[in-house]
Amino acid sequence: MIHTNYHSHLVYCNHAIGHAEDYIKVALEHNFIELGISDHAPLLPCFMSRSEFERFGKLYRTMTLDTALRKYLPEVEEAKRKYAGKIKILSAFEIEYFSTNEFFSRYLRKKVDYLNLGVHMFEYKNQILNTYSQIDSTTIYAYMKAAIDGMKTGLFNTLVHPDLFMYNYHNDKNENRFDEHCAYVSKKIIEAAIENDVYVEINANGINNSRKSDHWLYPCKEFWEIAAEYPELKIIIGADAHTPDALVCDYVHQALEFAKGLGLKIIDKMEIRH
Ligand SMILES: [Zn+2]
Ligand SMILES: [Zn+2]
Repeated sequence: MIHTNYHSHLVYCNHAIGHAEDYIKVALEHNFIELGISDHAPLLPCFMSRSEFERFGKLYRTMTLDTALRKYLPEVEEAKRKYAGKIKILSAFEIEYFSTNEFFSRYLRKKVDYLNLGVHMFEYKNQILNTYSQIDSTTIYAYMKAAIDGMKTGLFNTLVHPDLFMYNYHNDKNENRFDEHCAYVSKKIIEAAIENDVYVEINANGINNSRKSDHWLYPCKEFWEIAAEYPELKIIIGADAHTPDALVCDYVHQALEFAKGLGLKIIDKMEIRH
Protein backbone atom coordinates (compact mmCIF):
# COMPACT_ATOMS: atom_id res chain seq x y z
CA MET A 1 0.00 0.00 0.00
CA ILE A 2 1.33 3.43 -0.87
CA HIS A 3 0.18 6.50 1.01
CA THR A 4 0.83 9.12 -1.60
CA ASN A 5 -0.29 9.96 -5.10
CA TYR A 6 1.04 12.67 -7.37
CA HIS A 7 -1.19 12.18 -10.39
CA SER A 8 -4.84 13.12 -9.86
CA HIS A 9 -7.34 14.97 -12.04
CA LEU A 10 -10.36 17.06 -11.16
CA VAL A 11 -13.63 17.85 -12.88
CA TYR A 12 -12.05 20.87 -14.61
CA CYS A 13 -10.36 18.84 -17.36
CA ASN A 14 -13.84 17.75 -18.51
CA HIS A 15 -13.03 14.04 -18.50
CA ALA A 16 -12.61 13.44 -14.75
CA ILE A 17 -15.03 13.49 -11.83
CA GLY A 18 -14.71 15.17 -8.46
CA HIS A 19 -13.39 18.24 -6.72
CA ALA A 20 -10.24 18.54 -4.60
CA GLU A 21 -12.15 17.74 -1.42
CA ASP A 22 -13.63 14.54 -2.86
CA TYR A 23 -10.12 13.25 -3.51
CA ILE A 24 -8.83 14.44 -0.15
CA LYS A 25 -11.61 12.59 1.68
CA VAL A 26 -10.63 9.30 0.02
CA ALA A 27 -6.96 10.01 0.68
CA LEU A 28 -7.64 10.70 4.37
CA GLU A 29 -9.74 7.54 4.74
CA HIS A 30 -6.71 5.59 3.55
CA ASN A 31 -4.16 7.45 5.68
CA PHE A 32 -2.38 9.18 2.83
CA ILE A 33 0.39 11.54 3.87
CA GLU A 34 0.57 13.49 0.60
CA LEU A 35 -1.71 14.10 -2.35
CA GLY A 36 -0.67 15.90 -5.51
CA ILE A 37 -3.49 17.36 -7.58
CA SER A 38 -2.25 17.55 -11.14
CA ASP A 39 -5.00 18.26 -13.61
CA HIS A 40 -4.27 18.65 -17.32
CA ALA A 41 -2.97 22.13 -18.07
CA PRO A 42 -4.89 24.26 -20.57
CA LEU A 43 -4.02 23.52 -24.18
CA LEU A 44 -3.55 26.85 -25.92
CA PRO A 45 -4.39 27.44 -29.59
CA CYS A 46 -1.06 29.17 -30.20
CA PHE A 47 0.84 25.87 -29.93
CA MET A 48 -0.66 24.35 -33.08
CA SER A 49 -2.58 25.01 -36.25
CA ARG A 50 -6.24 25.83 -36.08
CA SER A 51 -7.34 22.42 -37.37
CA GLU A 52 -5.00 20.63 -34.96
CA PHE A 53 -6.34 22.67 -32.10
CA GLU A 54 -9.87 21.80 -33.06
CA ARG A 55 -9.00 18.11 -33.25
CA PHE A 56 -6.92 17.91 -30.06
CA GLY A 57 -9.15 20.34 -28.23
CA LYS A 58 -12.07 17.98 -28.87
CA LEU A 59 -10.06 14.92 -27.89
CA TYR A 60 -8.66 16.28 -24.65
CA ARG A 61 -11.10 19.03 -23.67
CA THR A 62 -8.71 20.57 -21.16
CA MET A 63 -9.68 23.49 -18.92
CA THR A 64 -9.26 27.02 -20.22
CA LEU A 65 -6.57 29.29 -18.78
CA ASP A 66 -9.32 31.33 -17.19
CA THR A 67 -10.68 28.24 -15.40
CA ALA A 68 -7.17 27.29 -14.31
CA LEU A 69 -6.55 30.68 -12.73
CA ARG A 70 -9.99 31.44 -11.35
CA LYS A 71 -11.26 28.01 -10.30
CA TYR A 72 -8.75 25.17 -10.32
CA LEU A 73 -5.80 26.81 -8.57
CA PRO A 74 -7.87 28.67 -5.93
CA GLU A 75 -9.69 25.40 -5.13
CA VAL A 76 -6.44 23.53 -4.57
CA GLU A 77 -4.98 26.40 -2.52
CA GLU A 78 -8.09 26.51 -0.37
CA ALA A 79 -7.89 22.73 0.20
CA LYS A 80 -4.24 23.10 1.21
CA ARG A 81 -5.22 25.58 3.92
CA LYS A 82 -8.27 23.66 5.08
CA TYR A 83 -6.49 20.33 5.46
CA ALA A 84 -3.14 21.64 6.72
CA GLY A 85 -1.89 19.40 9.52
CA LYS A 86 -4.01 16.48 8.31
CA ILE A 87 -2.51 15.82 4.89
CA LYS A 88 -0.05 17.64 2.67
CA ILE A 89 -1.73 18.80 -0.51
CA LEU A 90 0.43 19.76 -3.48
CA SER A 91 -0.73 21.68 -6.51
CA ALA A 92 0.40 20.67 -9.96
CA PHE A 93 -0.36 20.49 -13.66
CA GLU A 94 0.17 17.72 -16.17
CA ILE A 95 1.41 19.35 -19.33
CA GLU A 96 2.66 18.50 -22.81
CA TYR A 97 6.01 19.48 -24.22
CA PHE A 98 6.25 21.33 -27.54
CA SER A 99 9.22 23.38 -28.68
CA THR A 100 6.82 26.36 -28.67
CA ASN A 101 5.25 26.07 -25.20
CA GLU A 102 8.23 26.27 -22.86
CA PHE A 103 7.35 29.84 -21.84
CA PHE A 104 3.90 28.66 -20.86
CA SER A 105 5.21 25.71 -18.81
CA ARG A 106 7.59 28.13 -17.11
CA TYR A 107 4.68 30.45 -16.33
CA LEU A 108 2.56 27.61 -14.91
CA ARG A 109 5.47 26.18 -12.94
CA LYS A 110 5.56 29.39 -10.88
CA LYS A 111 1.93 28.90 -9.88
CA VAL A 112 2.15 25.31 -8.59
CA ASP A 113 4.30 22.99 -6.48
CA TYR A 114 5.43 20.82 -9.41
CA LEU A 115 4.71 19.85 -13.01
CA ASN A 116 4.12 16.41 -14.52
CA LEU A 117 5.24 15.94 -18.09
CA GLY A 118 2.80 13.79 -20.11
CA VAL A 119 3.41 13.25 -23.82
CA HIS A 120 -0.08 12.67 -25.21
CA MET A 121 0.83 14.55 -28.38
CA PHE A 122 4.13 15.58 -29.93
CA GLU A 123 5.67 17.50 -32.80
CA TYR A 124 6.65 15.70 -35.97
CA LYS A 125 7.62 17.53 -39.18
CA ASN A 126 5.68 20.70 -38.40
CA GLN A 127 2.59 18.83 -37.30
CA ILE A 128 1.26 17.68 -33.96
CA LEU A 129 0.70 13.92 -33.76
CA ASN A 130 -1.39 11.95 -31.30
CA THR A 131 0.40 9.41 -29.07
CA TYR A 132 -2.77 7.31 -28.87
CA SER A 133 -3.05 6.80 -32.62
CA GLN A 134 0.06 7.84 -34.56
CA ILE A 135 3.08 5.92 -33.24
CA ASP A 136 5.07 3.83 -35.68
CA SER A 137 8.74 2.92 -36.09
CA THR A 138 9.48 6.45 -37.37
CA THR A 139 7.26 8.70 -35.26
CA ILE A 140 8.26 6.92 -32.06
CA TYR A 141 11.53 8.89 -32.27
CA ALA A 142 9.60 12.16 -32.24
CA TYR A 143 7.74 10.95 -29.14
CA MET A 144 11.14 10.23 -27.58
CA LYS A 145 12.39 13.70 -28.51
CA ALA A 146 9.39 15.38 -26.87
CA ALA A 147 9.92 13.39 -23.66
CA ILE A 148 13.67 14.07 -23.56
CA ASP A 149 13.52 17.74 -24.59
CA GLY A 150 10.79 18.23 -21.98
CA MET A 151 12.92 16.70 -19.24
CA LYS A 152 15.89 18.81 -20.30
CA THR A 153 14.00 22.04 -19.60
CA GLY A 154 14.30 21.30 -15.88
CA LEU A 155 10.66 22.25 -15.37
CA PHE A 156 9.22 18.81 -14.72
CA ASN A 157 9.44 16.68 -11.61
CA THR A 158 7.98 13.53 -13.18
CA LEU A 159 7.58 12.03 -16.62
CA VAL A 160 4.22 10.28 -16.33
CA HIS A 161 3.47 7.13 -18.32
CA PRO A 162 6.86 7.25 -20.12
CA ASP A 163 5.85 4.05 -21.97
CA LEU A 164 2.58 5.43 -23.34
CA PHE A 165 3.99 4.95 -26.86
CA MET A 166 3.17 1.24 -26.52
CA TYR A 167 -0.54 2.03 -26.47
CA ASN A 168 -0.47 2.44 -30.21
CA TYR A 169 2.99 1.39 -31.42
CA HIS A 170 2.78 -0.53 -34.67
CA ASN A 171 5.75 -1.65 -36.73
CA ASP A 172 5.96 -1.85 -40.52
CA LYS A 173 3.89 -5.05 -40.43
CA ASN A 174 1.27 -3.30 -38.33
CA GLU A 175 2.08 -5.40 -35.25
CA ASN A 176 2.02 -3.99 -31.73
CA ARG A 177 5.27 -5.62 -30.69
CA PHE A 178 8.04 -4.20 -28.52
CA ASP A 179 10.96 -4.22 -30.98
CA GLU A 180 14.43 -2.70 -31.31
CA HIS A 181 12.98 0.79 -31.90
CA CYS A 182 10.96 0.58 -28.70
CA ALA A 183 13.97 -0.73 -26.77
CA TYR A 184 16.18 2.12 -28.03
CA VAL A 185 13.58 4.76 -27.20
CA SER A 186 12.99 3.24 -23.74
CA LYS A 187 16.70 3.25 -22.94
CA LYS A 188 17.15 6.86 -24.07
CA ILE A 189 14.13 8.07 -22.09
CA ILE A 190 15.30 6.26 -18.96
CA GLU A 191 18.84 7.61 -19.28
CA ALA A 192 17.52 11.16 -19.80
CA ALA A 193 15.34 10.81 -16.69
CA ILE A 194 18.41 9.89 -14.67
CA GLU A 195 20.56 12.65 -16.19
CA ASN A 196 17.91 15.29 -15.56
CA ASP A 197 16.85 13.98 -12.15
CA VAL A 198 13.24 13.36 -13.19
CA TYR A 199 11.01 10.69 -11.67
CA VAL A 200 9.33 8.21 -14.00
CA GLU A 201 5.89 6.85 -13.27
CA ILE A 202 4.34 3.41 -13.49
CA ASN A 203 0.85 4.44 -14.50
CA ALA A 204 -1.83 2.39 -12.77
CA ASN A 205 -4.57 3.85 -14.95
CA GLY A 206 -2.93 2.23 -17.97
CA ILE A 207 -3.83 -1.18 -16.59
CA ASN A 208 -7.45 -0.19 -17.01
CA ASN A 209 -7.08 2.10 -20.00
CA SER A 210 -5.07 -0.25 -22.23
CA ARG A 211 -6.39 -3.62 -21.15
CA LYS A 212 -6.64 -6.39 -23.75
CA SER A 213 -8.03 -9.88 -23.14
CA ASP A 214 -4.89 -11.29 -21.55
CA HIS A 215 -2.53 -8.34 -21.04
CA TRP A 216 -2.33 -4.55 -20.99
CA LEU A 217 -0.30 -2.31 -23.29
CA TYR A 218 1.09 0.08 -20.66
CA PRO A 219 2.70 -0.10 -18.15
CA CYS A 220 4.79 -2.04 -20.65
CA LYS A 221 6.70 -5.00 -19.21
CA GLU A 222 9.63 -4.70 -21.62
CA PHE A 223 10.06 -0.98 -20.88
CA TRP A 224 10.19 -1.61 -17.14
CA GLU A 225 12.51 -4.60 -17.59
CA ILE A 226 14.97 -2.17 -19.16
CA ALA A 227 14.30 0.26 -16.30
CA ALA A 228 15.24 -2.50 -13.83
CA GLU A 229 18.79 -2.35 -15.22
CA TYR A 230 19.14 1.19 -13.85
CA PRO A 231 19.04 1.08 -10.03
CA GLU A 232 19.54 4.86 -9.82
CA LEU A 233 16.28 5.53 -11.72
CA LYS A 234 13.62 7.13 -9.51
CA ILE A 235 10.29 5.36 -9.95
CA ILE A 236 6.91 6.22 -8.49
CA ILE A 237 3.48 4.67 -8.96
CA GLY A 238 0.82 7.08 -10.19
CA ALA A 239 -2.89 6.36 -9.89
CA ASP A 240 -3.60 8.87 -12.70
CA ALA A 241 -6.93 9.12 -10.91
CA HIS A 242 -9.82 10.55 -12.90
CA THR A 243 -12.28 9.65 -10.11
CA PRO A 244 -11.67 9.91 -6.34
CA ASP A 245 -11.98 6.12 -5.86
CA ALA A 246 -9.18 5.52 -8.35
CA LEU A 247 -6.67 6.73 -5.74
CA VAL A 248 -6.85 3.37 -4.00
CA CYS A 249 -8.34 1.07 -6.63
CA ASP A 250 -7.18 -2.40 -7.57
CA TYR A 251 -5.17 -1.02 -10.49
CA VAL A 252 -2.82 0.71 -8.07
CA HIS A 253 -2.42 -2.58 -6.26
CA GLN A 254 -1.74 -4.37 -9.55
CA ALA A 255 0.82 -1.73 -10.53
CA LEU A 256 2.64 -2.35 -7.25
CA GLU A 257 2.61 -6.10 -7.83
CA PHE A 258 3.85 -5.51 -11.38
CA ALA A 259 6.77 -3.45 -10.03
CA LYS A 260 7.54 -6.01 -7.39
CA GLY A 261 7.54 -8.80 -9.97
CA LEU A 262 10.22 -6.97 -11.96
CA GLY A 263 12.29 -6.18 -8.89
CA LEU A 264 11.76 -2.42 -9.24
CA LYS A 265 12.30 -0.20 -6.24
CA ILE A 266 9.36 2.17 -5.78
CA ILE A 267 9.72 5.55 -4.11
CA ASP A 268 6.74 6.31 -1.90
CA LYS A 269 7.34 9.96 -1.10
CA MET A 270 8.35 12.16 -4.00
CA GLU A 271 10.76 15.01 -3.43
CA ILE A 272 10.31 18.22 -5.37
CA ARG A 273 13.47 18.40 -7.45
CA HIS A 274 12.43 21.02 -9.99
ZN1 LIG B 1 -6.77 12.68 -18.27
ZN1 LIG C 1 -2.89 12.23 -16.09
